[in-house]
Amino acid sequence: MPAAEVGMRWKTRMAAAFVFVAAATAAGAEDNTVTVIRAGTLIDGRSDTPLKDQVIVVSGHRIESVGPGGSFAAPDGAKVIDLSQGTVLPGLIDSHTHLLLQGEEESEGGYDAQLLKRSVAYRTARATVAARRALEQGFTTLRDVETEGAGYADVGLKQAIDEGHLPGPRIFASTRGISSTGGYPLEGYAPEVVVPKGVQIIDGPVEARKAAREQLENGADWIKVYMTHRSWVDEKTGALVSQPTLTVEELKAIVDEVHGWGRKVACHAYNGPGLKRALDGGCDSIEHGLELDDAAVAQMVKQGTWYCPTLAVYYYGWRPDGTPDGRKDRKRVDVHGPSFQRAMKAGVKIVFGTDVGGFPWTDPIAQEFGRMVDLGMSPMAAIRSATSAAAEMLGKTGELGVIAPGAYADIVAVPGDPLKDVGELGRVSFVMKDGAVFKSEGR
Ligand SMILES: [Zn+2]
Repeated sequence: MPAAEVGMRWKTRMAAAFVFVAAATAAGAEDNTVTVIRAGTLIDGRSDTPLKDQVIVVSGHRIESVGPGGSFAAPDGAKVIDLSQGTVLPGLIDSHTHLLLQGEEESEGGYDAQLLKRSVAYRTARATVAARRALEQGFTTLRDVETEGAGYADVGLKQAIDEGHLPGPRIFASTRGISSTGGYPLEGYAPEVVVPKGVQIIDGPVEARKAAREQLENGADWIKVYMTHRSWVDEKTGALVSQPTLTVEELKAIVDEVHGWGRKVACHAYNGPGLKRALDGGCDSIEHGLELDDAAVAQMVKQGTWYCPTLAVYYYGWRPDGTPDGRKDRKRVDVHGPSFQRAMKAGVKIVFGTDVGGFPWTDPIAQEFGRMVDLGMSPMAAIRSATSAAAEMLGKTGELGVIAPGAYADIVAVPGDPLKDVGELGRVSFVMKDGAVFKSEGR
């Protein structure tokens, strides 16, 4: 189905969803509220086996207990939520988003217009809508991997959400992103014209470390680095070729600094020497990884590197077949599937990520689950990649991505069985974040 059609259908559903969205307490639950959730089926985010007829007791912001429904009697004064007809899961985590981007629609001037013609205030206003859309779809946590020229707007947005001024997911912010000269748009303008860049540009290990320090000082939870930039199909060999950006020395300076702050580094890397440098430099997660060869996969397993493949976004906006860009668009998808399967087979730790913002926020985030399952991942493993696995990458094991005592009460539900039809994850009908009900459709 063309992307535009998916978007239209989703928009219609969004409009309907707004009607049902409960009067949300964006700030989360009061500290002493007790809520009892009856779950028909519970997928806890960790175990392989779903449990039937469970009761989750939420106290304030956290889950107090989980156990069999049976003869459980709700404590006096507790609010009871009946999800006994549905499947209850932990709040979902998208580990690769761009809240400050709105797709790169050519009709709206593409990527360049967002940086040249839209103020950061305008872009932030639209990001508040994107944040709300994520939450409506059951994504209670996002790792947002850079603002594409909108500076530190992600940190401000996160703060406003955390303080309860507007509804939205928990955000792990990466602020500005880092690449080297010749390694990021805007580009293609006359050399005399100074244009903004979608990232902070560095050259040399000293500038690299300084950029990381600046971004960390201004609130970055993660640092995002671009290790490859341009890519093309080689006319002789037919192979996908990607231009490497930072050197190993530059990346090592960043990784050393960021790890010193107890934080992590996400590296955009397609393949080839840039991917090799990303791994040699000690990246914590590889973003996209379009063409992980056996050596890269082995190194990722050995180093415990996370893989955030972002499959769905590469099906968008293919340019005409037979043109260099059209060939590249198709080649990227051709190599991505086998790369994902190689990583999966070798036991690389995989997290769910979409690159939404690269495609419009009106489109369904959950479409990525379908892509993962089509390539052979089990629905349960795909769910874990968006729950407990992502939480582990974020350093929040036991707190996020799981329904267990002590975890934050980020809880969602779907009407059917996502293990039979992973498309169910696109039909989230109930969302609780931080103990407060945000959405409760048809109840
Ligand atoms: Zn991205």
